[in-house]
Amino acid sequence: MVDFVIPPPSVAAVPVAGGGAFPVRRVYCVGRNYAEHAREMGSDPDREPPFFFMKPADALVIDGADMPYPPQSNSLHHEMELVVALSEGGVDIQEADALRHVWGYAAGLDMTRRDLQNAAKKEGKPWDMGKAFDASAPIGLMVPAAKIGHPSRGLIELKVNGQVRQTSDLSKMIWDIPETIAYLSRLVRLAPGDLIFTGTPEGVAAVERGDLLEGVVAGVGTVRTRIV
Ligand code: MN
Repeated sequence: MVDFVIPPPSVAAVPVAGGGAFPVRRVYCVGRNYAEHAREMGSDPDREPPFFFMKPADALVIDGADMPYPPQSNSLHHEMELVVALSEGGVDIQEADALRHVWGYAAGLDMTRRDLQNAAKKEGKPWDMGKAFDASAPIGLMVPAAKIGHPSRGLIELKVNGQVRQTSDLSKMIWDIPETIAYLSRLVRLAPGDLIFTGTPEGVAAVERGDLLEGVVAGVGTVRTRIV
């Protein structure tokens, strides 16, 4: 038994629909994984391999909880995404074998301080403070693949104050879920408890304090948060 000199931090977890909770180790995110979003961000989606960034596990905001508007930004953007949760890890995972590492799925929001991210991009600096800030990852209830299967098509949509802001289809991902897991597992050792935010479709835009964000991924679930 380790004699911790301060109380150890608690384990981040996402409640599972129907009971229990999924413990979270790391949160990976895929950048520019829908062609129309890549274009709206000024990139050419046809020539780019997948790339990744991370958020801390304690940045998760559990479904229904408020998200505080973050400091040092005047441009907080929503990015509606499908989230994959791994129950098995490894390195060099083969695409054909990838889905067997998946425990389940959730709807999530990769909230972004776009002004800080854009400044970082321009100066060739890290994205962390644009992406990995406190409360930057609202997420809905987790659902097991054993119950819903592995979604590869279907609506992904975000409403802000009841108005549709983002609407697309999971089939429009450039790198699908098996390809994403396989690619990421060649860069890092994946492990049980890892989440992967799989990228956002077009329509990203700013939100303000008081806005209500309601996202849905067909066959998976919803995510809901109010910016305060
Ligand atoms: Mn994103």
